[in-house]
Amino acid sequence: MAKITSVWIEDGCIVCNACETTCPEVFTVTEETCKILAEVRVDGLHDTNLESKSPLSGSFGADLADQIIEAAEGCPVEVIKFVKV
Ligand code: SF4
Repeated sequence: MAKITSVWIEDGCIVCNACETTCPEVFTVTEETCKILAEVRVDGLHDTNLESKSPLSGSFGADLADQIIEAAEGCPVEVIKFVKV
């Protein structure tokens, strides 16, 4: 079974809301960009996770792997990046 260890948003998000619709447990879309929710991150920050690439906490990376991958594949500008093991 796939596990996502980290997920982040590169520059260029067009705030289309698709990822939040697919996986609201991880993605939240603000006026400027999508962010990775603090609740699923080891570092507890609420930003794009582009700089810190904080690991996902607990079992989120395993439990939500399919949804994260689906969200990344559905991003129209392909700015959702992740590490899968
Ligand atoms: S799907 Fe992509 S472009 Fe749309 S809000 Fe999410 S990260 Fe931004």
